[in-house]
Amino acid sequence: PFEFQGKHITVAGLGVSGVPAARVLHGLGAIVTVVNDGADERARAQAAELEALGITVRLGDGDTLPEGSELIVTAPGWKPDKPLFAAAERAGVPVWGDVELAWRLRGPDAAPWLAVTGTNGKTTTVQMLASILKAAGLRTAAVGNIGVSLLDAVLGEERYDVLAVELSSYQLHWAPSLRAHSAAVLNLAPDHLDWHGSMEAYAADKGRIYEGNRIACVYNAADKATEDLVRDADVEEGCRAVGFTLGTPAPSQLGVVEGILVDRAFVENRQKNAQELAEVADVNPPAPHNIANALAAAALARAYGVPAKAVRDGLRAFTPDAHRIAHVADVDGVAYVDDSKATNTHAAEASLAAYEPIVWIAGGLAKGAVFDELVAKSAQRLRGAVLIGADRALIREALARHAPEVPVVDLDRTDTGAMLQAVQEARRLAQPGDTVLLAPACASMDMFTNYNKRGDAFAEAVRELGAGT
Ligand code: ADP
Repeated sequence: PFEFQGKHITVAGLGVSGVPAARVLHGLGAIVTVVNDGADERARAQAAELEALGITVRLGDGDTLPEGSELIVTAPGWKPDKPLFAAAERAGVPVWGDVELAWRLRGPDAAPWLAVTGTNGKTTTVQMLASILKAAGLRTAAVGNIGVSLLDAVLGEERYDVLAVELSSYQLHWAPSLRAHSAAVLNLAPDHLDWHGSMEAYAADKGRIYEGNRIACVYNAADKATEDLVRDADVEEGCRAVGFTLGTPAPSQLGVVEGILVDRAFVENRQKNAQELAEVADVNPPAPHNIANALAAAALARAYGVPAKAVRDGLRAFTPDAHRIAHVADVDGVAYVDDSKATNTHAAEASLAAYEPIVWIAGGLAKGAVFDELVAKSAQRLRGAVLIGADRALIREALARHAPEVPVVDLDRTDTGAMLQAVQEARRLAQPGDTVLLAPACASMDMFTNYNKRGDAFAEAVRELGAGT
């Protein structure tokens, strides 16, 4: 085990991961220096809190490696091309992220990790998985970017049998020795490429989740890139590749047969070649991408040995978090659905595939995305589109190229109040039986603090519509 006592450790970044990491390392007897780029009010308050414990904090200089550093523990969001890491490399100083730290600090009889990553669906899948594990009577929690923090899960009072862990590509980049019991990559689409540098680097970081898996590497049979990552991974002997598919499963896969989720990978009764798990209607909402999430969660739970009945009970007990394909209301026979969490084109494509006809509300910050494929694939389903936000012209142009017949209202607004007008315009375009879908395919920060606020504004606008009729 790593010896922390007396080690000079640099914590890179204050904030949600840095402050607890600094406290824990200090508690273990390390000599901790925190470096942070900014020096705003929040940073100064956090610094004061740590300095009171005897921890050194350097504000306004996150790029100089403190003299004598033997290890850096970084916030996951810090970009690998920062000068601090180049300095660390020259000095032969290892860099760990928050996940690596939690992994190293877990006790000898610690709960194994069932880990999930992917471009979209991570939170939903991890919550479904936790729900299934709980239905099996196991002590568990959804941890990572959601719910309990990893450090708390590993060091806290609470005892767990197994953890359902959500991991981002950033976290995986900085977690070299993590070894999961089993892991799933749900899908791979371009996202955060500015951080990773290239699609190859992004995929390689995601693929880290399979390294050293003991029981199963779960991949998406409809997304070859995920299967390739399994093939490239170095796993424990006997570890199996397990696919999930929305179609009929091959041996070693989970899939769907006549509205039933079936498992052909982990069959208990040798007389049978498939185990029925649950009905499609047990998945909430039963949209195709969400059934895929449910199959991935089921695969990990089954890899851990959970019985079929717990999969069904756990899926039935699961309700999705807010702003993820949430049905807000029906007004005049039109359904209003909030998928504000669809912050990239891959996510928006999934929700647009779940409805027809659609009046689509989209736009925001594009983060370098290209909208042609999304629009071309969804054009047939669109009754109309209402565009808001900073980068709406990119979507407007893609609509003009691939869906010239679809009426488009370009609101030319980026103020918060634009959402009410967008919903009113959408109502004018919609006909009874249609769905007005907020699936922006963009980040929200040009207009709102975050996607939650954007979804709230949508729901509020829909309520105003309802009240006016
Ligand atoms: P993450 O934690 O990866 O951001 P979430 O579970 O919060 O994922 O879902 C984010 C959004 O991605 C959802 O609102 C939905 O639009 C979309 N989504 C969810 N699951 C999938 C999937 N399996 N494939 C594509 N898009 C998905």
